[in-house]
Amino acid sequence: MIGWGTTARTAAAPINPTTRELQVVAGLYTSEQRGNGIREERLVHNYLVEAGLAARIPKGIRIWEETLRDGEQTPGVAYTPEEKVRIARVLDEVHVPMMDVGIPVVSSEEARGVRMIANAGLDATIMAAARTVRKDVEACIACDVDEIALFTAGSDLHIKHKLAMTREQVKEAAVRETEYAVAHGVDVSFVTEDTFRADLDFVVDLYDACTAAGAHRAVVCDTVGVMTPPGITWFFEQLKRRLKPTELSFHGHNDFGLAVANSLAAVEAGVAVPHTCVNGLGERSGNASFEELVLSLEALYGYDTGIDISRIYELSQLVETLSGIPVGMHQPLVGHNAFAHESGIHAHGVIKHTATYEPMQPEKLGRQRTFVFGKHTGSLAVAEKLRGRGVEATPEQVAALVKLIKDFAEARSKGDQQAFVVSFRDRAERRRGVTDEEFWTLGQKAGLGRPKTAAK
Ligand SMILES: [Zn+2]
Repeated sequence: MIGWGTTARTAAAPINPTTRELQVVAGLYTSEQRGNGIREERLVHNYLVEAGLAARIPKGIRIWEETLRDGEQTPGVAYTPEEKVRIARVLDEVHVPMMDVGIPVVSSEEARGVRMIANAGLDATIMAAARTVRKDVEACIACDVDEIALFTAGSDLHIKHKLAMTREQVKEAAVRETEYAVAHGVDVSFVTEDTFRADLDFVVDLYDACTAAGAHRAVVCDTVGVMTPPGITWFFEQLKRRLKPTELSFHGHNDFGLAVANSLAAVEAGVAVPHTCVNGLGERSGNASFEELVLSLEALYGYDTGIDISRIYELSQLVETLSGIPVGMHQPLVGHNAFAHESGIHAHGVIKHTATYEPMQPEKLGRQRTFVFGKHTGSLAVAEKLRGRGVEATPEQVAALVKLIKDFAEARSKGDQQAFVVSFRDRAERRRGVTDEEFWTLGQKAGLGRPKTAAK
C-alpha cells in the first residue's frame, strides 16, 4: 500500500491522498486527471520533462548487468557458483535483459558457476568475458553462454605496459578471436578497455575490424572513471559519426563519483546498452550502480526500463549479504539513510506530504521510510507515532516527551557508535582477501620461506 510505510521506529506517514506521486508523474503533473475527475493542483515543476530533456532519451535501452563479473572483481569479493546462480535468478526475475556472469578461464569453479547460470533456463542473455586469447574464448564456448564479451586494450598505455604488444598485434588477435567465437555460434560484444584515453583513430579501426569479423556490439569503457558527462557526449558523437553501424554500449567506473551521471549522458548520446553493478560494486570505487541508473531513468525521466523496480531493495540486500560488502549509510536509494528522517522540519514535511523531502517514495523500490527519534526530533513526528500506536496524548504531554527524547539523545555517549566505526575499519582491513599471516602460511605450503623483512 503505497504511502503508508511504517517500521518499528516509524510514525505513520500518510501521503496526501489528493496529490499524485511525483516520481510517476514525470511531467504529467499538470494535465493528469484523477479517477474522480478533479484536476491536480500544480505544486511542483519537472523541468527534465517540461524542457524536453526526458524525451531525448532514446527508446530501447537495455541494462547489461556486471554484478557477477566486474562486481565480483571488487577487492575481497568471491561468490560460490551457487551464490552466483542465486543472484542471477533474481536479476532474471526483475527482467534484467543481459548479464556478464564471469571469466571462465579464471578457475574451474568460476567456469562451473558460469555454466550453471548458462544452463539455468533464464530469460536473460548470458554472457561471459574473455581476453582475445584462444583458451579464454574456448572456456566461454565450453560454458554454453549465449554471448562473449571479448575484451582487449584500447589505450597505448595498456597496449604497451599491460599487453606488451603492438597495435597491429592487438587488432589481429581481436579479429581472429571474434571470427573464432562467431564461427562457433556465439555472439560477440567487442570491448576495448581504457577507450576514453585511447587514440580515437585506432579504436575506430579496431571496432570496425571486429564488426566486420562478426561482432554485433561495441562496448566503450571508461576503465578508470576519468570522463565527465560533456566528455561522454563529445566522445560518442565522434564514434557515431565514424564507426560502421553497430550497437553501442558503455561501461563506466566511479572513481570520481560520475559513473551514473556519465551513463545517463551516454544513453542520451544514443548508447543502447549501459553497464551496471548492483550496489555500485566493481573494481576500486565500483561501476555505475544498477539501482541508481535504473531509478534515475524511471523516476526522474519517467522512462520505462522494463525492470521490476519493486524488488530493487531486496536485490541490493541479497548482493550485500552474498558479497560481504556493506552498503554505505549514505548510499543513494539503498543506503540506510536514504529514506530516514530525524529533523523536525523534514519529518513534519514528510508527514504532511512525503514528496516534500523525498524525491521518490521508498515503497516503490520495496523499502520503507523511517523516522529516527533523537536530538532533532519535532513534535509532529512524536504525535504521529503516538497516534499510530493508539496512544492518546495532550499537546503538553507531546512537548514533554519531545524534550525528554532530545535530552536523552544529547546525553547519550557516542562510545557505541565510535566503537562500531573502529571495528568496521579493522574488519574491512582484515577481510580483504587473505590476511598477511594467511598469505605467508599459504606461501609455506607452496614451499616458500617466511618473510625476511617486516610488513610495511
Ligand atoms: Zn570494469
